[in-house]
Amino acid sequence: MATYAKRTLRSAALWKQAAEWTPLGVHSNYRYIDPHPLFVRRGSGSRLWDVDENEYLDFNMGFGALQSGHAHPKVVEAVQAQVAKGTHYGYEWELSPTVAEKICRRYGQAQVRFSTTGLEATHHAVRIARAVTGRSLLLKFEGGYHGSHDTLLVGVKPRPEVAGPARQPNSVPASLGIPPEVTGKTLVAPFNDLEATRAIVRAHRNDLAAILTEPIPMNMGFILPEPGFMPGLRELCDEVGALLLFDEVKTGTKYYRGAAPRVGVKPDLIVLGKSISSGVPVSAIVTRAGLLDQVGPKKIAHAGTYNSNPLAMAACLATLDHVLTEDGIARSTRLSDRLAAGYREVLTDAHLPAYVAADGVSGMAYFTDHVVRDWRTFCTVDSERWMLYFYSALNRGLIPSGTGPDEQWTISVAHTEADVDRHLSVLREVAPTLRGETHAGTIDEAV
Ligand code: PLP
Repeated sequence: MATYAKRTLRSAALWKQAAEWTPLGVHSNYRYIDPHPLFVRRGSGSRLWDVDENEYLDFNMGFGALQSGHAHPKVVEAVQAQVAKGTHYGYEWELSPTVAEKICRRYGQAQVRFSTTGLEATHHAVRIARAVTGRSLLLKFEGGYHGSHDTLLVGVKPRPEVAGPARQPNSVPASLGIPPEVTGKTLVAPFNDLEATRAIVRAHRNDLAAILTEPIPMNMGFILPEPGFMPGLRELCDEVGALLLFDEVKTGTKYYRGAAPRVGVKPDLIVLGKSISSGVPVSAIVTRAGLLDQVGPKKIAHAGTYNSNPLAMAACLATLDHVLTEDGIARSTRLSDRLAAGYREVLTDAHLPAYVAADGVSGMAYFTDHVVRDWRTFCTVDSERWMLYFYSALNRGLIPSGTGPDEQWTISVAHTEADVDRHLSVLREVAPTLRGETHAGTIDEAV
């Protein structure tokens, strides 16, 4: 951390200025790191440069929002062409229907509504589920993050002391300011435990509007659902008349048609965001026929000044047509496989208790000797050792993943084999230094 502080003096100065006007000096809590956050000047392809002109090989990729890489030429061209014609109209743009059709066809769904952030789209998804079913309860999984709004800021990263029984977790708010009446509408279940989930769902069978989950949770690192778990959730929803909502804000582009086919289940509604428009904010709810029939005045509210904004739609169209192609994603997947294999080899050679989880274009290393299958097993991860790795990598010009042991790497279409090999050579260099004494412990509950 001391080396990081010395390498990033200009960031430190900007942070001082920022902190005067902005709590923590950042506009999203997740961006803060000790002793000060990084301030960035520019990005290109797989590289980022901070304000001290340090170059980083970036595997965070904007917390998974940049599978395009930084400043992809096709996205730059599309946004530049549009910006001169207007940044915003307050009317529908001529190419929005084309983008809508492409999204529906790609994800095998019937209808779509665009919005701007993942937060908004999961918020709309919950309202639609409640309106369509006429029920008010929602079930999410412990450890899952679905955006910074009240209904879903429950059971996000609860400390073990307050989390309650593992098979029937408490609905712990993840922020101050959330009324208990709101928290009480969100049930929390343990991921990968179908029996426990069944018991919770059946106990509320007449009141449950929906189960909302990432098909592959990516806010507890990287957790693949165990065989039968996702099909089990589908059956459970059908049994009690609830909807199955997939939050694919992260996973939606990490597989060409999203992660739903990967886990073998068709949800009623998919939420998209992040990489779908290469870092220009777009989110969407994409649903089966019939689900959005009641969206309209005096029925289900869905509105937003910036929904289907022309700049964002232009970026989305370029992304779908030219950036996140089937071939492009397949190539990124092969690179991710190579990175995961390298991690396994290096960490084994270094005799570090670690376990590598990866699939598609993402993965990560957990410093633990347990298999991580849910939030409670995630709590065995040695966060301090991970942070030691993170700073050691930063100081060598590598951002190995999103910030925190609950994040993962994202391979963009801009990454190359040489980038993956450079990542592994940094890991190989620092691995022996990661063996020292650290303290296992969970990351902070606050979002
Ligand atoms: N859903 C998931 C799975 C996410 O990872 C995130 C953000 O990280 C969100 C929703 C919220 O998206 P946004 O930050 O665009 O509001």
